Amino acid sequence: MKVKFRCFIGLGSNLDDPIQQVSSALNELALLDKCELINASSLYASAPVGPQDQPDFINAVAEIETELSPEALLDQLQLLEQKHQRIRERHWGPRTLDLDILLYGHQIIETERLSIPHPYMYERSFVLYPLAEINPHLSMPKGLPLSELLTACPMGSLLKI
Ligand code: AMP
Repeated sequence: MKVKFRCFIGLGSNLDDPIQQVSSALNELALLDKCELINASSLYASAPVGPQDQPDFINAVAEIETELSPEALLDQLQLLEQKHQRIRERHWGPRTLDLDILLYGHQIIETERLSIPHPYMYERSFVLYPLAEINPHLSMPKGLPLSELLTACPMGSLLKI
């Protein structure tokens, strides 16, 4: 029997009808081979990080169970990004779809292609609040409770839609 891992995926879009981009990406995640969509957060609107001369983002977090290795899961997510004709001209610039592996079980992974937990997730309200919506009692790989991260991260302009 294959071991299954509980993973959390961060979704973001701020181009070409972002609500539709994120909603359809959630449906596509549910259809991925060797993956089961367990839960999805509401959609949230967030101000961009970095350059401010770009539209607000729509974000969500999905909880999946998968038999795929971290690299194989990243491959699948990158195919989905390409399917959404991701345009990316500059770092932290606008994009049609961004998919990040936030957590992969309780593993800590540092390779050329992957940093898990995702390096920015501990301080991003658009990750932490959707994550808490679907799994409020979650702990990070080293045992830090999500609730503590939330205390240190105000919701700011994040808006549940
Ligand atoms: P970005 O589009 O800015 O999210 O960065 C894409 C690159 O980040 C990809 O080429 C991945 O190899 C790398 N990356 C590192 N860690 C992760 C992660 N946890 N989830 C998704 N991509 C990651």
